[in-house]
Amino acid sequence: MGRMLIDAHTHLFPVEVRRDHMAFAARDRQLSLLYSGDDVRMAGRKDLVFELDKHGIGFAVAYGFPWRDIELARRHNDYLLEAAELAGGRLIPAACVHPLSPGATKEADRALSAGAGVLGEVAMYRRDITPDTLDALLDLAYVCACHDKPLCLHVNEPVGHQYPGKAPMTLRGLYSFLEESQGVKIILAHLGGGIFFYNLLKKDIAGLLENVYIDTAAIPYLYKPKALKLACDLLGPEHVMMGTDYPLLPWTRYMRFVERAGLDKEEIEWIEGRSAASLFGIEDRQERPEGNSDGRFLQVPG
Ligand SMILES: [Zn+2]
Repeated sequence: MGRMLIDAHTHLFPVEVRRDHMAFAARDRQLSLLYSGDDVRMAGRKDLVFELDKHGIGFAVAYGFPWRDIELARRHNDYLLEAAELAGGRLIPAACVHPLSPGATKEADRALSAGAGVLGEVAMYRRDITPDTLDALLDLAYVCACHDKPLCLHVNEPVGHQYPGKAPMTLRGLYSFLEESQGVKIILAHLGGGIFFYNLLKKDIAGLLENVYIDTAAIPYLYKPKALKLACDLLGPEHVMMGTDYPLLPWTRYMRFVERAGLDKEEIEWIEGRSAASLFGIEDRQERPEGNSDGRFLQVPG
């Protein structure tokens, strides 16, 4: 069996947005926070598939953007579904909505019914999870539960330096969401803001992180490599997934980070693909007797 490499966190944008991102930034305050200026990098399907081939990566999860305008969200979700179709099973398309958009749950339900494999990266870059935003998030978690699909939430560390897109999130807010969304598989991006440390608490948190996965998106900018080792120790490597936040940083940059983290071989295997394969139901057809062994890459069933 070859190594199964999966990039569990990438972002793709439709060509209309890539061509004129400033016009879209003027329509969406969150987009203007993350993608403004002239040196903005946005990628499309072909860019991503090229990148996957370059690094020998079998699959990627393709996230979109939590547009506040539900019509833009719908178009982006359709773009990702179509991209996955054209990529021959190598992309797991995400559906994304802003939790506070009118019609968010309906669109999430539509896109998941149409074949999206995950909801996300859901983000509220300008606010914390408070009692009023919590309800909207839980509605989306409920839709995910109905489809038995995970929900990926943008999380950032509550302390440390400020950067564009760093939301005023608190661990208390995140904790309340995890308490109320139990049973739903939750992916917390960017090492979950450090929530894994609290798996060591003696009371209340037991079981709370059982359905929680974290990814490595952007962490070479944010953490020392030791953090990845601690995350594996405290949460289990089968809960940690390699995600590059493509086109932010290349896969090789993360591999260098992993090499410095002091992980053993099995932990690295989980992070670089096995965890995501298990969460997203990606199977190595080469392992199955009825499988087709001539494909270079692993195949997604269905
Ligand atoms: Zn994020």
